[in-house]
Amino acid sequence: MSTKQQALFIIFGGTGDLAKRKLYPALFALYQKGIINEHFAVIGTARRPWTDQHFQAVVQESLPDAKAAVAKKFDAHFYYQSHNVNDTEHYVTLKKLAQNLDEKYQIGGNRLFYLAMSPRFFGTIAQHLKSQAIVTADGYNRVIIEKPFGHDYTSAAELNQSISKYFSEDDVFRIDHYLGKEMVQNILAIRFGNNIFNSLWNNRYIDNLQITLSESLGVEERAGYYETAGALRDMVQNHILQIVSLLTMKMPTTYSETDIRREKICALKSLKVYQPQEVATNFVRAQYQAATGLKGYRQEDQIAPDSQTETFVAGKLLVASENFAGVPIYIRTGKRLRQKATRIDVVFKTVPGDIFAKQDLADNILTIEVEPEGKVSLQLNVKKIGQGYQLQEQQLDLSPENRNGEQIPEAYEKLLLDALMGDATNFTHWEEVAYSWKFVDAIRQAWDQSQQPLAEYPCGSMGPKQADELLTKDHRHWIYK
Ligand code: NAD
Repeated sequence: MSTKQQALFIIFGGTGDLAKRKLYPALFALYQKGIINEHFAVIGTARRPWTDQHFQAVVQESLPDAKAAVAKKFDAHFYYQSHNVNDTEHYVTLKKLAQNLDEKYQIGGNRLFYLAMSPRFFGTIAQHLKSQAIVTADGYNRVIIEKPFGHDYTSAAELNQSISKYFSEDDVFRIDHYLGKEMVQNILAIRFGNNIFNSLWNNRYIDNLQITLSESLGVEERAGYYETAGALRDMVQNHILQIVSLLTMKMPTTYSETDIRREKICALKSLKVYQPQEVATNFVRAQYQAATGLKGYRQEDQIAPDSQTETFVAGKLLVASENFAGVPIYIRTGKRLRQKATRIDVVFKTVPGDIFAKQDLADNILTIEVEPEGKVSLQLNVKKIGQGYQLQEQQLDLSPENRNGEQIPEAYEKLLLDALMGDATNFTHWEEVAYSWKFVDAIRQAWDQSQQPLAEYPCGSMGPKQADELLTKDHRHWIYK
């Protein structure tokens, strides 16, 4: 399905962490598969005065497993330009370099502008790309944008406006790398490719949905950013709500960018936006406390000793759609939790009647484990082997090893290829961003006005007891413990 692509990549923030850890390895994977091969070049830009040679050495360092000879051939397509995004002169130089490379590699005018730097620069860059004619007339010109896309609805709308003045929505690819993860992409296949799930995927058969995105790390080097963001903005507004939309959207007419995004937008529009008093009963925020030799959040470098930033969020979401009205969606995410995991549990309602009198039946649970394993399992009740008629629960597992050990591509590799092919299905549409912020803003505002102190949880736990109580008061419990 993927044919050879020709493109000039211009990476703003080419010396940054994201570029080194994710983008160069992803480009290399595409190179090894022959998807980008001869007709491509990469310009890395940032403020530092690097030479092409130094840049190429940095790129090579980011590919520790690559064979030196192959990496060298690949790196030869990389060029560096020292660039201050606010300096118009630098765009003139950039344009010349881009034109030369376009000719040298016979690229045909296709350009991907990757904005791997602080969003406060996006508007300036977009404006200069247009005003200095770095966009071409004979190929495509697409902008890839990293999170965070604003810090609330108003700032996101302003940011969007500053870009949409110069690029149409069709050319703006907002990355949410969770949408590039194999198991997240599997949600639609499982739901719509199997009638046993498709026909049961509604409030008549589903009791509740649970989504957990747990991280074992603390704030690490991102403390400065995190202190201004918190878990709600950093994880819920984007990754968790994207997963919610995939789980609750109606079946699109076709598997296509337009139809899928339309239904995802509707799903996010259907989220119940809470009143301040409802936030207190449906959402929990907390901070990690020192434990097992690890510092508490307020003791971390660059964190205020009286910080009110939440490192954990749990919540109960409700959706006002025909199929999901009344089905609670429990979400949680946090730092310094017991394990890094991303997992979805779909809990089905119990069997009506009481045929196996007095025997407790286990819930049917469909689990989609995105990380660490990448597997799907279904909890069923079966007969216990032997005399009599006892039931026991049993897992039906679809693990990666059952799928011929196929190599799962990295999220960034898949998303870069999608962007090359102009397929925005797994990128976030502006309206998705807008509805997500409106939902999140209501929670944030209620918290900002609340006198209630943050809950606490020790490092290495699965969060505060209040997150468990959110479910126990509904006579439910977290499936993932
Ligand atoms: P970073 O601080 O490591 O890199 C920022 C880059 O921008 C550097 O190359 C720096 O030289 C350049 N830069 C800064 N000011 C500049 C200026 N005035 N002119 C020209 N260049 C300038 O940041 P990062 O971690 O690579 O993140 C980049 C973006 O991606 C951020 O918006 C971040 O929120 C987002 N992001 C990063 C990650 C990650 O894993 N690192 C994950 C998700 C999103």
